Amino acid sequence: VLTTQDEDTISSIITGLSAGSVSIIRLSGTEAVPIALKAFRPGGRFRIGWSPASHRVYYGTAVDGDENVLDEVLLLVMLSPRSYTAEDVVEFHCHGGGVCAARVQRALIEAGARPAKPGEFTLRAFLNGRLDLAQAESVSELVGARTAAAADSALAGLRGGVGSAVSDMRRQCLDLLAELEARLDFDEDLPPIDVPALKSQIEAIQAGIEKALRTARAGSLLRRGLQVAIVGRPNVGKSSLLNAWTNSDRAIVTEIAGTTRDVLEAQLSVGGVPVTLLDTAGIRDSTDVVERIGVERSQAAAAAADVVIMVVDSAEGWTDADTEIYRSLWGDGPGSSGCRVRGPALLVANKDDLRAAGPASGGATASTDEHAPLPLPVLARETFSATVRTSASQRKGLESLDAALLDLAGAPQLAASGGVSWAVNERQAEALVRSHEALMRLSESVAADLPLDFWTIDLRSALLALGEVSGDEVAEEVLDNVFSRFCIGK
Ligand code: GDP
Ligand code: ZN
Repeated sequence: VLTTQDEDTISSIITGLSAGSVSIIRLSGTEAVPIALKAFRPGGRFRIGWSPASHRVYYGTAVDGDENVLDEVLLLVMLSPRSYTAEDVVEFHCHGGGVCAARVQRALIEAGARPAKPGEFTLRAFLNGRLDLAQAESVSELVGARTAAAADSALAGLRGGVGSAVSDMRRQCLDLLAELEARLDFDEDLPPIDVPALKSQIEAIQAGIEKALRTARAGSLLRRGLQVAIVGRPNVGKSSLLNAWTNSDRAIVTEIAGTTRDVLEAQLSVGGVPVTLLDTAGIRDSTDVVERIGVERSQAAAAAADVVIMVVDSAEGWTDADTEIYRSLWGDGPGSSGCRVRGPALLVANKDDLRAAGPASGGATASTDEHAPLPLPVLARETFSATVRTSASQRKGLESLDAALLDLAGAPQLAASGGVSWAVNERQAEALVRSHEALMRLSESVAADLPLDFWTIDLRSALLALGEVSGDEVAEEVLDNVFSRFCIGK
């Protein structure tokens, strides 16, 4: 559990644990410099009694308590308050690969530092007033961003977006509260409250909250992304579609931990939204019917997915086998008792090149219009919000698929706008909703002409909720919750 500020000097390897040419260890706290100097021997002409200046880099060796050389390092000193945490910070830049950094870290612990907990550097930056809570959350989002758009949004948040918007609203609420409380204390001496002006001030603050809340959908899409399950009978081209969609400039190259071997998974960026594609039945080409259809895996993936894409063969049209797959997922349709899919769905008619190539088997009525609707059984007509015709082998129709997916996810404006601005996260949105509700109650109290004390109660709870966003008023549990999600060393 992270407690409020302590006096310890903390230390952690702050670079990634995978191979790289440099590893960095950061110390923060009042003892950062003395502890660092126990483990650092400057190279060159330095004398005993030497102490490093702030914001300079020194070359030397890291040593343990017995003067054994552990690595050749660069030492970077950033004295309070001009550092990430606003405390004294010292960094050791070691050789990468893990071994050097691990032994230097051990030497620093022996010299008196304590290993930092996840998020503890950023927690200190927050407690020391370097960042507000929303900015601190943006740091974690920036590190975890999977697309450029997600990084842009986190950066906008880090540069003050959410926090400063909310601080403005908070200030307006504080002004109102001061006015009301003055009336409570010196009723006689002050002119009566200008109720219409008060109402319009409340509405202005509410409008600001609503505006911030409108970014929540984009925020959730950018941070969490979309899980998309690709389902369909064997051979319609699910794996080919996944490959065509992924082997393009949309591919996200970052490795995501926890990829299961059981389901073929691919990461891509669709209009800035990180999308995880799950190809469920396409891994093993078994002769076992149940295995081939992969019903169970498809069901589980489709039930968990945000969006389900069902692939059929454009040239063959909808077949009885498609109906079978359909029923295993949607039962008698969305909302029916047998329906396992909760999210929205798209229909992809793949192999459109075969349909367009000429009259296929029984395809006398086939048209070459890429927007020609696919005749669907009544059962499935309400299920799919759009049909997209693709040719995975010719990489055609992928832009339409992008657009249909974004549209379905409620993100068309995200794709269009290019430059992505800050967006509130779930914690912030939840607090904003509470403050909006409190302001609604305030309006009702005003309208009902209730005594002033009631007004101030509502206004105080609005203030409290707004303060949770910026961190001006925040319980320790909230801080623990926010910072424990950070990675070690951040
Ligand atoms: P899955 O079982 O649904 O994953 O299907 P696959 O992706 O393995 O594809 C089955 C076969 O269809 C393969 O031979 C692919 O080359 C072929 N195929 C996939 N997509 C297309 C397409 O758009 N057009 C054509 N002509 N063939 C395709
Ligand atoms: Zn496949």
